[in-house]
Amino acid sequence: MISHRSVVAWVTVVLCLAAFSERSFAQPSAAEPASIPSPKSVLGFTPGDDRTVAGWSQITDYFARLDRASDRVSVQTLGESTLKRPLIVAFISARENILALPKYKEIQQQLADPRLITQDVQRDRLLANGKVVVTISCSIHSTEIVASQMSMQLAYELATAQDSETQTILQNTILLLIPSPNPDGIDIVANWYRKTLGTPYEGKEPPELYHHYAGHDDNRDWFMLNLKETQLITRLLWHEWFPQIVYDVHQQGANGSRFFVPPFYDPANPKISPLLLRQVGLIGHKIAADLQAAGFKGVLTNALYDTWWHGGFRTAPYFHNSIGILSEAASARLMTPNTVTAEQLARASSRGMRNATEAMTNFPDPWPAGAWRPRDIMAMEMIAARSILSMAAQFRADYLRNFYELGRKNIELPANKGETLAYLVPAGQARDEAVAKMIGSLLDQGVEVFRLDRELHVVLSPQVLQRANPVTEKLGTYKITGQMSALQEVPLGSYIIFLNQPQRANVEALFEPQIYPNRLTAQGEAERPYDVAGWTLPLQMGIEAPAVVFIRETASERRLTKLKDGNQVRADLALALKKGDESPIRNPVKQPVRVGIYKGSMSNMDEGWTRFVFDTFNVPYSSVRDADMRQGALNSKFDALVFPSQSSTQIINGNATGTLPAEYTGGLTEAGVKNLKEFVSNGGMLICFDNSCDLAIKQFNLPLRNVLEGVRSSEFYCPGSIVTLDLDNKNQIAATLPSALPAYFINSSAFAAATDANVRVIARYAKENVLLSGWLLGEDKLRGQIAIAEVSLGKGRIVLFGFRPQHRGQTWATLPLIWNALSSAAATSSE
Ligand SMILES: [Zn+2]
Repeated sequence: MISHRSVVAWVTVVLCLAAFSERSFAQPSAAEPASIPSPKSVLGFTPGDDRTVAGWSQITDYFARLDRASDRVSVQTLGESTLKRPLIVAFISARENILALPKYKEIQQQLADPRLITQDVQRDRLLANGKVVVTISCSIHSTEIVASQMSMQLAYELATAQDSETQTILQNTILLLIPSPNPDGIDIVANWYRKTLGTPYEGKEPPELYHHYAGHDDNRDWFMLNLKETQLITRLLWHEWFPQIVYDVHQQGANGSRFFVPPFYDPANPKISPLLLRQVGLIGHKIAADLQAAGFKGVLTNALYDTWWHGGFRTAPYFHNSIGILSEAASARLMTPNTVTAEQLARASSRGMRNATEAMTNFPDPWPAGAWRPRDIMAMEMIAARSILSMAAQFRADYLRNFYELGRKNIELPANKGETLAYLVPAGQARDEAVAKMIGSLLDQGVEVFRLDRELHVVLSPQVLQRANPVTEKLGTYKITGQMSALQEVPLGSYIIFLNQPQRANVEALFEPQIYPNRLTAQGEAERPYDVAGWTLPLQMGIEAPAVVFIRETASERRLTKLKDGNQVRADLALALKKGDESPIRNPVKQPVRVGIYKGSMSNMDEGWTRFVFDTFNVPYSSVRDADMRQGALNSKFDALVFPSQSSTQIINGNATGTLPAEYTGGLTEAGVKNLKEFVSNGGMLICFDNSCDLAIKQFNLPLRNVLEGVRSSEFYCPGSIVTLDLDNKNQIAATLPSALPAYFINSSAFAAATDANVRVIARYAKENVLLSGWLLGEDKLRGQIAIAEVSLGKGRIVLFGFRPQHRGQTWATLPLIWNALSSAAATSSE
């Protein structure tokens, strides 16, 4: 099956899959203290064994023992997860490096900010003395569980191995091993797995989000930093340790390639340095070659996954001048072996791979189908980890120098007149909480932000003003007067973010509009991007952030304060500061209103993000389950019910009988639909986001239709982009808002109303220039169509949002529409 070519000792040992034991990394020599506990000696099984799983307390317990027993390992607790589990990182390196961690941290911080290095001799000393810092993060997606188990074995083997290659790795690198950045999810999956072991549901995924708010979207949060886990790890990585290489270990579907590694597929984000893309490719190919040499089949490169989107664990590094590596192993059934047939492989196709049986240059050795075990996943991940560490150790000086040079180039001023110098966040936007959140997120990821302590006179970029931000032109909260080319006075108290800082690419990628290339398949259909196409942060948050192309004041005339953290911004804006975990934002819903948020039997990330924004804004709610809906008498409990985006089939049917234990199956059913209609007729308010509008429209025969339903992607496609809404400010739901607003459209809906219908239109997609950031194919289909509508039914009302006003907790521009709707629900209900 697998050949035993002896490439390096490590590979040979890992290969012996049948005999894979806790000693497989390399045999500890007799000199090694016998007191270093193996995972097996602590857990009672070897990580990766079929049908075993270690939960979070077992994993942290193992790492604590390793910390005590090995002078190569130092474990730190970063803080608490969302559900209050400890989030840990294990530093692994040679004993002398572990003893000198503060020194190496200091070196990294200087290399990360070349402005701190004033002399060539100082630079050369840092480059000579520094170590390559590598981060390996396991199982951020908790159902991709194997890597979290692997982390213990990897740590043990690095702590005990005596071979010369391991010694070289330990001497030249410092590994920051994160057993999981989502500890809550590890327990959600481990508990579920144990509970269902030996039942017909063994190996199925748990029927709840594996992150309390975000589920799978916990890996879409790395620039917004909404979640505690992303905040803690971002501090570790981009304020303290600045790793040169970050490896994010994932699993993919069961039936495709066995293992994906970079190079990635197109399109590449144009803000990522070509040098980084080349280095990513080099490491990916090293992993692929090592796997091939070790006899593993089915390794895929240059397919499916791209570098366009921002906000992933492995994409954030590109915007910090670092190398981000992804691997995606084919999944087993959690920790239960799986069998894959040739037919299944033949049906698996993706961007860059015709199917999983056909050899191609980027997939030279298809896997022949058969049994697939957690052990196989673990062995490939261990080889990948070893490949990366070995590259880092061998080319230590190159990695440090490239990292430093990328930062150095970023701090150079633009060569040409008229190029963007900085972005401004002018004072007086009447959006203080959003401004505080955005500036706070920037500071949290290490972006430099200054406050103006004296007025500044600048010339703004006309292109950016017109293309990117309808807010700037249409709101009038901060009025930019005179010619675009004229000097503007920017009030003190405004914020400025200069481009010439080490994180230049990050500032550009967050502030500029994204222009996704028109990519079509041979059949003329839209080629789906891996994730979203646009995310421009000030647009999503409804914040004016014009680009500056000229500043009158010289550097010495400016009065600027460099901000330390988000608290300073909140203090500037006189926002309440509360100690502890709660969000400092005051509930924006004017009257007390009893809100229910629908939570069906099928886990739904949009439901989680809805709870997240309600919790962030301190708006009270309860979750409403299908049983509550079927029981009825909803008016006695709620004034308003919110349905997050979900298809009506999923809402009505839920998980099918027999697919999961009975308590996790079933849906709203006809009875629930009837009760919901009664709730509205009796005076309740129903608020639907995006896909769930379909339920209300079809079940209640509303005089609206989704004009995008069934339209081919060759005609219309918009996979996660920012578009402009025109609001009717006479309607109380839009009354407090500007007349034009950016909104997030992710394969969303657009409505047309019957001509004589009693439909109040609150917002339409703009009549022209709809797209602000991302990709919109077939704009004519969207122009002028209804985006938000309100329909009366009996004594109550239904508010339909064609899009998601709370998408990923990022779209602060459109959140006030939800709060206004709820404020008006209280008014209706009390009538
Ligand atoms: Zn994943």
